[in-house]
Amino acid sequence: MTLKKILIVSGTHGNEINPVWAVNQFCKQNNITDKNIEYKFIIGNPLAFKKGIRYIDTDLNRSFDFKKNLNKTNYEIDRANFLAENFGINSSETCQIAIDLHTTTANMGTSIVMYGRRNVDFCLAALLQNKFGLPIYLHENDKNQKGFLVEAWPCGLVIEIGSVPQNFYDPNIVNRFLIIISDLRDEINKLKNNLIKLPKELIVHVHQGSIDYPREKNGSINGIIHPDRINQDWKQIKRGDPLFLDINGNSIFYLGDADICPVFIGEVAYKEKNIAMSYTKKELIFSSEEWVNEFLGL
Ligand SMILES: [Zn+2]
Repeated sequence: MTLKKILIVSGTHGNEINPVWAVNQFCKQNNITDKNIEYKFIIGNPLAFKKGIRYIDTDLNRSFDFKKNLNKTNYEIDRANFLAENFGINSSETCQIAIDLHTTTANMGTSIVMYGRRNVDFCLAALLQNKFGLPIYLHENDKNQKGFLVEAWPCGLVIEIGSVPQNFYDPNIVNRFLIIISDLRDEINKLKNNLIKLPKELIVHVHQGSIDYPREKNGSINGIIHPDRINQDWKQIKRGDPLFLDINGNSIFYLGDADICPVFIGEVAYKEKNIAMSYTKKELIFSSEEWVNEFLGL
């Protein structure tokens, strides 16, 4: 196994401050080069973090599509290039895995977000789901959303924890990040030393699409998340279940045929993306030896 370094990124969104605190606390209390695997810590978007805003010019976590960015420049595109050049493959500090720490204002609890179906990501997600029982949100085939940070590394996941407001320190949220940072290396070492096996099955919530708020013709929002739907992330809904409550007090219902599980319900940062919630379908995936072999060969 050549895996030696894991890049832990906090503050990719500058107003998600709990992961930054958790990382600082972890570094004070632990030897980061311990346990065969070294952690490299970096603040993704330091200027946005300083200002307490999500980003300066564009969303950093959509800025890692290097083909699309060719010949373009702004603060986040430059920052994406800097991170890939300094911590990506073939850099002086090559990290094989990137873990990107985020918070959400939605009531998601602690979850894993993965992008696409790389075997190595499945392996790491299975390892964490096995240890912590975390739900997995598999984001794929979304034409409007590309260029996620972890896609620029051979293996990588987002840890997403909520609900917590932007720019608000919550010690319980900090603690959840600390537990994951502390245990991640131990779990990888256990897998490497054949002390644990991956679970046979993995339940993933596969991204299907997103739903916008109801709007007036002029674009202004004229409905809010329905009281039966607010804070009910991951709960399955069916045709006829309420989604929104319009300004006249009328319910607006889900009219699709498939049973779906909404996530990121009411996420504040997604309003600008015209997303009131995303929706997923549950899929059972069987783990394989290939996942482990590829992961340990990183
Ligand atoms: Zn974020």
